[in-house]
Amino acid sequence: MIKTNRSLTGHRLSGAARAAFTSAAAAVTAAALAFGTFLAPWAALHAQAASAAPAGQNPVVIVLDPGHGGPLENSDNQGAIYAPYREKNLTLQLAKAIQAELSVYDNVQCFLTREDDSSLTLSERADIAAAHHADMLICLHFNASNRHDYYGSEVWTSAFGHNYAVGASFGETELAMLSGLGLYSKGVKTRIGQHGDYYGIIRHSDAAGIPCVLIEHCYLDSEEDRSLLSGKDFLSQLAHADAVSIAAWFHLKSSSYGIDFTQYVRPETADAPAGGIPQDTTAPDVCTLEQIGRSGSRVSFRLTAADTDSSYPLLYYSYTVDGKTSRLQTWPKGSSSVTFTIQAPKGTQVYGTAHNSYELSTDSSVLAVK
Ligand SMILES: [Zn+2]
Repeated sequence: MIKTNRSLTGHRLSGAARAAFTSAAAAVTAAALAFGTFLAPWAALHAQAASAAPAGQNPVVIVLDPGHGGPLENSDNQGAIYAPYREKNLTLQLAKAIQAELSVYDNVQCFLTREDDSSLTLSERADIAAAHHADMLICLHFNASNRHDYYGSEVWTSAFGHNYAVGASFGETELAMLSGLGLYSKGVKTRIGQHGDYYGIIRHSDAAGIPCVLIEHCYLDSEEDRSLLSGKDFLSQLAHADAVSIAAWFHLKSSSYGIDFTQYVRPETADAPAGGIPQDTTAPDVCTLEQIGRSGSRVSFRLTAADTDSSYPLLYYSYTVDGKTSRLQTWPKGSSSVTFTIQAPKGTQVYGTAHNSYELSTDSSVLAVK
């Protein structure tokens, strides 16, 4: 249901636009923001020679909410902890780095809901955004899962009205930037609870009339994302991706560094229909496995799956061989099936599993290898 402007990822920048982005990137690097080689994600931001409204008199106001926080002895809101990573510290570091990057742009104010390891309720965080008359409340998080092998980025936003359209459009921009860092995009998602939006910070912010997004940057407990996270300056690269997403989406300019995002074309999204956009509550309804070939001891399979009641894509698959389940693999985007090859003697018991966007899964029936 999220209408995406295909031009965001479907086109390359023209030579002139590329040069402009490249020099902008160079200027940012010159500002000692130290990102190393980090040009590829800039190319994901599509510039178009259309007229854009000049920046108004009122500054763009961004409130960043570093998720979780509070000293151990008096806060149970520690967030995910997987050594050496502690979510509440990463979110604060990230927020400060984004704020520093945004300071090079004109006509923007950026506030944090907390500047230290203090404990705040969700409604207090939304109240701070309201007190600043924020144009957007951006909640910074890192993920973890019980199975410890989910990986990738996702953005949560309000399921309702115009705040859905705003949050989903910004979320698409953000996810395009994060995928430029090698993070798998799990998409923009919504979840409805008993009293409106399921996530309190989104619900409180929506009630205050402020669009809100909650960015789960990556997983602290999966091999895939930890190998990225442990890379040199990865947190700075995340901050850069967030800051550029904000600068692009809000059409910011930096006259001191010659960066100009006023021509950035936002991904198109429609307002949510009445009643909101619900989460997917059912597992994939189709999941079948067939053996399609053998070469020596190597056997190939095709896993076909569908989640026909859902507009959200399948995200991962796994396979289980004689009771041992593989790590999650990436489901090929837009495809109804995936093939994989394993070592398996005749008689081995194999089944496949398809996983949807809401972490619900369906197993195929068990097949004895021929
Ligand atoms: Zn969190």
